[in-house]
Order: sequence, then C-alpha cells, then structure tokens
Amino acid sequence: MKSTLNVVIVGGGITGLCAALLLARSDHAGQMHIRLIDAAPRPSPGPIGEIALRVSALSVGSAALLEDSGGWRPDERCSPYDHMRVWDERCASDGPSTLRFDADEFSVPHLGYIVENTLLQQSLLDALADTPVELQFSTPLESFSVGREQQLLTLADGTQLQADLVIAADGGRSRIRELAGIDVQRQPYAQTAFVTHLETERPHARTAYQRFLREGPLGMLPLYDGRLSVVWSTSPQIAQLARDCSDSELGDMLTEASDAVLGKLTVAGPRGCFPLVAQHAHQYVQHGLALIGDAAHTIHPLAGQGANLGIADAAMLAETVNAALANGEYPADRPVLRRFERARRGENAAMMHFMTGLNRLFASDSTLLGELRRVGMTMFNRSGPIRKRVAGIALGAAIR
Ligand SMILES: Cc1cc2nc3c(=O)[nH]c(=O)nc-3n(C[C@H](O)[C@H](O)[C@H](O)COP(=O)(O)OP(=O)(O)OC[C@H]3O[C@@H](n4cnc5c(N)ncnc54)[C@H](O)[C@@H]3O)c2cc1C
Repeated sequence: MKSTLNVVIVGGGITGLCAALLLARSDHAGQMHIRLIDAAPRPSPGPIGEIALRVSALSVGSAALLEDSGGWRPDERCSPYDHMRVWDERCASDGPSTLRFDADEFSVPHLGYIVENTLLQQSLLDALADTPVELQFSTPLESFSVGREQQLLTLADGTQLQADLVIAADGGRSRIRELAGIDVQRQPYAQTAFVTHLETERPHARTAYQRFLREGPLGMLPLYDGRLSVVWSTSPQIAQLARDCSDSELGDMLTEASDAVLGKLTVAGPRGCFPLVAQHAHQYVQHGLALIGDAAHTIHPLAGQGANLGIADAAMLAETVNAALANGEYPADRPVLRRFERARRGENAAMMHFMTGLNRLFASDSTLLGELRRVGMTMFNRSGPIRKRVAGIALGAAIR
C-alpha cells in the first residue's frame, strides 16, 4: 500500500467539515493527506444577536461526538432545549394525546441544542486550523472521473487534483453523485419549508414545539435570545403567501397555525423557503468514492435529523478508514467502504421512512386515521419502553 492516502472532501457544509476533522483527529491521520474544497465562500457568522436564518437542532449524541473531537461545544450562542411538545391540530395542545418529552425523564442534561449552521461550521473550521487539513473555498468542482488507480477532480479554476479517496459531502444536488452515475430514489413531498424567526408573547421556556397541521408540521425551536426559529412545512402556495405577505399578516397566520400556544407571535427575522424532497442514493460507495450527508440522503426536516444523520455518516466513515489503516488495508477499496455503507444505509433509510410515514399520517383527512392518531398518541404517552426507544433514536444517545 502507498505510504500516504490522498483524501479529497468535496463540500464544506456541516457534514464535510465534520468528516475532515474526525479524519484529521483519528489515530492514523499521519498516513493521510486531506484536502477539502467548497464552491461557496468561507462561512462567516454574523455578530451576537443577529441569529442566522438557518439553524439546526443538534441531538445530544451529535453534540457529544462534536465535543469529543474538539469541533464544537455548547456556548452562549446556542440554545439548549429541555422539553418538547408534539400535538395534532385536531386536539388541544395540552390534551392527553399531546406528546411531551422532558430531559429529566431520560436522564440527559438537555434534549438537544439549537445552533446556527454557520456558527457550527465556524467552530469546526477553528478546530481544523490546528490540523494539516488544506481548505479551499470559493472553488466549485467541475468534473470528476474515476480512474483505475486514482480519481481525477477538475476544479473551476482549472486546478486538477488526484485522490485515492473522494468523499462527496456536496449536498442534496451532489455533482459528484451525478458524475459517478449513482442514481437516487426521489420523492418530492409537495411541501415547502417556510423559515423565519418570531418573538412570542409568552416565554418559550426552552421548549421545542411541533404542531401537525393538515398541510404539514409547524416546528418552533427556542433561540437563545428568547425568539423562536420557525420551520413551517406547508403547501407551496401557503409558503409563498407567507413569504410575500406583510409582517402583521404573517404574525397572524403563524399565531393561528401555532394555536397561540405561546400567545401572539410577531415576525422578527428574515424569511426563506426550501422545497422539500425525500431522496436516497442507491449506493453510498464505489471504489475510491463515498457519499455522506445530504449527498447520500435528504429527509423531511420535521424531526430535525438531517444534519445529525450527516454527522453520524462522517463519524462512521472516519472510523472505517481509520480501522482499515490500522489493519493494513487500503481504505479506498470498495469492500472496505462497503462496511461504512452497511453501517449507515439501513439506519438512514429507517429514519427516512419514519419521517415520510409520520408526515403522511398527520396530513391525512381521514376520520378513522384521525381517531387512530389520537388513540395511538395517548397510548404512546403511557408506554415507557416505546417512549424511551423513540427518544433514544431522536436524541442519538442510549437512554436509561
Ligand atoms: C428548513 C430546514 C430545516 C432543517 N432543520 C434541521 C435541524 O433542525 N436539524 C438537523 O439535523 N437537520 C436539519 N435540516 C437538514 C440539514 O440542514 C441538512 O441535512 C444539512 O445541512 C446537510 O449538510 P451537508 O453538509 O450534508 O450538505 P450541505 O449543507 O448542503 O453542504 C454542501 C456543501 O457542498 C458545497 N458544494 C455543492 N456543490 C459543490 C461543488 N460542485 N463543488 C464544491 N462544493 C460544492 C456547498 O457549497 C455546501 O457548502 C434542515 C433542513 C431544512 C431544509
């Protein structure tokens, strides 16, 4: 085997940066030369108080993994949340069928953390500054071809790179996935996620809320300055209306959509829309290539799991590469990379099907399904072991 493994990571989103750091901090990092390229400029978070539009709910499992690698730790610019409330629009927000989760019940310090995506990226970049990983922003990949020995990447500035292992972390529209001829199973949700920040009449008390409406779920995540981040998955028509109407009209729409669970809501942030699609790559790996994060799978944001799955992919890939180097194997070989694929694909598929099913179940108008939902949620509330199992998956952590 060659003495140095050339690794090129394409994509410096949360997943790609996380993969770079975990590889750079692994036991056999000295045997690798790692380079990361991204089409976008280097992310630059705004000043304190200017909370960016895109935030993610990090599970406690992801947070622990990031802390262990020195990539991120909770600080005053993240919002820990300790409670979660989930209910159906046909029921009262405090009725017996409302699902409630509390950190105390599961003996974890918090259920998770709301973090600005750019702040998390910045924190990972700060950690990478202490490693030999080479970073290049504002440089899109143009073409990629698979050779017998090495992969050849051509960047928009004309630079050509040779890699033993290419890690595609280039998001849902992955150019590498397309150039490698890997097909995806694709299913649009017929929903758009409308995103903004809101001020509330009553304090959010570190609670994440999710109300299932006929057109899709309304998620409200607590921010560290008292505001809420709203992710409203709804019909494209309603999302467009929400984007174009006045602040006072939007405040009224969202107060009604939230059943005024926190009183009157007032718009206090920019607005954005994201069309939603479920997408899963048929393969995650080929010889010399591995797909991770949204390049491999995109899922509905209703349970805030997309970035968490990407972080788990990055961790498993780094572990697989490190173990191969420890055993004297060539990490870019397909049978080695298949170990990573086997470990992650089934888990990601299960989470995707669960999200799609949940979204459909709550969007249904059927009276029978409505009654089943109510009874099912009430029973779920009383079932200790099932509650713990579901919470364990969402938290990305073992629950006692
Ligand atoms: C509204 C909404 C809310 C969400 N909320 C949550 C949440 O609460 N919790 C959660 O876990 N997940 C959430 N998600 C999902 C989460 O945002 C994504 O799963 C996650 O950001 C994917 O990260 P990634 O690094 O894999 O891909 P991306 O963030 O898409 O990053 C891809 C990177 O690749 C680069 N790139 C693309 N093409 C090229 C190219 N040709 N050459 C070079 N570079 C390239 C891009 O510039 C980008 O930096 C949400 C998603 C949406 C839409």
